[in-house]
Amino acid sequence: MAAVSTPAGGPTETRPPPLPRTFSTSILRIKNRRSFWDKLWNERNARKTDAHGEDLIVTPFAQVLASLRSVRNNFQCLTNVPSNKSRRSSGATAVTTPQPRNLNPGDEAYLKMAMETMEELDWCLDQLETIQTHRSVSDMASLKFKRMLNKELSHFSESSRSGNQISEYICSTFLDKQQELDIPTALRPDEPAEPPKGAQRKERPRAPTTMSQISGVNRKLCHTNSFTGEKLPTHGVETPYEDELGKCLMEIDRWGVDMFRIGELSNERPLTAVAYTVFTSRDLLKTMLIQPKVLVTYMMTVEDHYVKENPFHNSLHAADVTQSTHVLLNTPALESVFTPLEITAALFAACVHDVDHPGLTNQFLVNTSSELAIMYNDESVLENHHLAVAFKLLCNEGCDMFANMSRKQRQTLRKMVIDMVLSTDMSKHMTLLADLKTMVETKKVAGSGVLLLDNYTDRIQVLENLVHCADLSNPTKPLRLYRLWVERLMEEFFRQGDKEREAGLDISAMCDRHSATIEKSQVGFIDYIVHPLWETWADLVHPDAQDILDTLEENRDWYQSAIPASPPAEEDQDDPQRSGIRFQVTLEEGDAESETESAGPM
Ligand SMILES: [Zn+2]
Repeated sequence: MAAVSTPAGGPTETRPPPLPRTFSTSILRIKNRRSFWDKLWNERNARKTDAHGEDLIVTPFAQVLASLRSVRNNFQCLTNVPSNKSRRSSGATAVTTPQPRNLNPGDEAYLKMAMETMEELDWCLDQLETIQTHRSVSDMASLKFKRMLNKELSHFSESSRSGNQISEYICSTFLDKQQELDIPTALRPDEPAEPPKGAQRKERPRAPTTMSQISGVNRKLCHTNSFTGEKLPTHGVETPYEDELGKCLMEIDRWGVDMFRIGELSNERPLTAVAYTVFTSRDLLKTMLIQPKVLVTYMMTVEDHYVKENPFHNSLHAADVTQSTHVLLNTPALESVFTPLEITAALFAACVHDVDHPGLTNQFLVNTSSELAIMYNDESVLENHHLAVAFKLLCNEGCDMFANMSRKQRQTLRKMVIDMVLSTDMSKHMTLLADLKTMVETKKVAGSGVLLLDNYTDRIQVLENLVHCADLSNPTKPLRLYRLWVERLMEEFFRQGDKEREAGLDISAMCDRHSATIEKSQVGFIDYIVHPLWETWADLVHPDAQDILDTLEENRDWYQSAIPASPPAEEDQDDPQRSGIRFQVTLEEGDAESETESAGPM
């Protein structure tokens, strides 16, 4: 059984910062740090200020717990029930139980407390009554977050054309259940109305692929035979720069290692070099009975199936996510929490999580009715494909690095890898974040300060978030590296935009190289997506991720200051048909609080 320590008691935000900070970050912290959660919290919980002091609890389940806890305390005050008669009299409850006051029935204070308690209980009942059988604790939290993000982005998008585009990008990438039916999208004059679903469009040739086979997007799956030697190279890759590469890889445990340099020194096999180094340094070859040569052969094969031509989604990104996953797994708060099998699964998932990525988004694949989208019924199309390719490649001769594990171990590992890679679908972001936040806050309210991860759901949830954090870690790296990643990602988006333009399709948000606002979009991306995630992660492993959070905030500051002042004329020149908000979150049917607002000029 494993335990993770979480900050006991009060919220992180109100505590004095544990590490020395630069002036700019502390100012930034005041300006931005709490904005995302504050807004959520202020939305409907103003009345709870008295009840919970400064506790910024935002997830519904933890709020109900906190509320019941305060009802319990009040009840004790009102009735003077001896606390030693209660089965909950010891341990965690003591943390927040106030000293009983001397209250007498009929006193004004007594009456006030009784009323408050009643109100609190009513609130709890309301909350519990709105839980429908099909709506889990997790759904409640993610729905709440999505609704809030939608509202925030509506405001943001009203600010300018670039704000609109950024909002649309964030909505279409990080929120699921996006529905465009209700939103009138202007047709281009030269484009006929959308043909019925499934109708063939002449102008778009399809790659000849067979449904029954798992095949590469641009090439057939094959086996890499380039490694034939008997003796393995020191770092798993043959390179003339072995010593220099060794020096770089010595830093494999450091957040912010220069992956671009590792790429150059490893003969363009950064993934193989990183995977080999990480697996050996963790002794996983011995523990999991993995043959070194098989590991290298498999990793080289996987690396060859990352598309080199992609500016971003190539094996350098995979190596980076693998190394980041490795560092996060090393975080002191998670020490001896995960088993070698779980660690193997997380690292393997990171290695393969984008294999054979075509450099196009899920949305693009769905919109163009690509073979892959048809194969996977539009659901996490890319992520399903990465997994299928990864497991298919294991079947190649000399590639099955898990051959010596028991059947049970292989089954468990496969399940975990599938869960982790599927959760790298960015449209699952809010759900992942809501679950993590609920977990962190529930433990805070319970006041135990210890997080037990004693079941599969909780353990995989932390691992899914860990890999997701690694996948969204570019903005937390040293600025020079972060900027290089941004350059690459934007180029990949732009190439998709070029394709869309050529095909006469609507150009996806942030994909138009003539109008994208790179700096501002990074600020929005950090404020709405990356920072809330990393802040919650930092809460979970407190205080381990403080430096990471600081770097993130400094980088945000830098991008904010780098936003070019746009000529006002440009903001007004919008094509009126394009300036309306074209994103929307569709809330669950029958949800009393549904507000499918579509702000902005239509
Ligand atoms: Zn990725």
